[in-house]
Amino acid sequence: MKAMQIQDYGPATDLMLADAQQPSINEDQILVQVGAAGVNPVDTYIRSGINNYTASRFPHTPGSDGAGTVVALGTKVTGFEIGQRVYFSRNLTGSSAEYTVCAATHTYLLADALSFEEGACLGIPYTTAHRALFGRANAKTGDKVLVHGATGAVGLATVQLALAAGMDVIASAGTTAGAELLRQQGVTQVIMHNESDHLAPFQTLDKGFDIIIEMLANHNLDQDLKALAFGGCVAVVGNRGTVEINPRDLMARDASVVGVALANTKPHELALIAKALRPLFEMGVLKPVIRHSYALTELAQAHEDVLKSGALGNLVVRIND
Ligand code: NAP
Repeated sequence: MKAMQIQDYGPATDLMLADAQQPSINEDQILVQVGAAGVNPVDTYIRSGINNYTASRFPHTPGSDGAGTVVALGTKVTGFEIGQRVYFSRNLTGSSAEYTVCAATHTYLLADALSFEEGACLGIPYTTAHRALFGRANAKTGDKVLVHGATGAVGLATVQLALAAGMDVIASAGTTAGAELLRQQGVTQVIMHNESDHLAPFQTLDKGFDIIIEMLANHNLDQDLKALAFGGCVAVVGNRGTVEINPRDLMARDASVVGVALANTKPHELALIAKALRPLFEMGVLKPVIRHSYALTELAQAHEDVLKSGALGNLVVRIND
């Protein structure tokens, strides 16, 4: 089968098209013919060897997320049928390939309303967004929520979920195109995260946020804490360095900072999130935004692009479309 592979940790340019052996499954696993693969920042961390959670085996086929068709089922797998359309996350052999092995615990039925390319945007981005808002920050209808870094894959999913749940959503962009995209999504108040003092209008107790979903904590956490309402919470989704804070900002507000790591989410919680999301995709309440769809051989470019500023949604790779 065709697969994009790398022989050791290294730059995206080391990714090469390979003629790989089609993987086989054990009794607990599902073989999926991949329709499209999602490209997320974590794929680049794993490829280059800076990921915290997983040691890779080589040759390594990148890609945690994807969507496709079930073509074989392990003897102990229940709840799935051959031919079903599914999406998955944390697959076992890499989604940048014609076939991939998925754990039944991380595979979910794909809403009929979604294409494979759209389905490839669900695993990490929407699941993380749901867990950040509801599982970690305990967000509820009416909360004033800042999605700090809203133009990327997780940010847009968070915006859509928060709007659907009746929250008062303020969202940040780095570019005017990003700001326009957020307005198209229904956000009425967009702020620009590259402007200095962009949080200043919110840094009083009566103007502060109940919740901040943070995509770049090393840049923003110090100022976030000053922009919380009493009892507010910052949920850290993204971070690429260290930051100095004044803990008094937390004390003054009875505020909290919580971490969000999708990798820590248990299978039963993932299944509940998938169950909650599916009808919202069927009804069109949630709709992935695909910024660019690449051919499989363009995976290296997708890995470069996913780390660039100026995000405008998800990046996906077409495999068997
Ligand atoms: P993405 O699609 O590449 O988007 C990155 C986002 O960060 C964009 O909206 C970008 O906005 C924004 N950003 C850039 N500079 C910023 C700043 N100074 N302040 C606030 N936001 C800023 O990535 P993603 O998939 O949405 O993921 C976002 C981050 O969360 C990544 O670091 C990723 O590794 C991490 N993540 C963590 C988990 C977890 O389990 N904890 C899960 C998924 C992702 P502009 O481009 O418009 O400037």
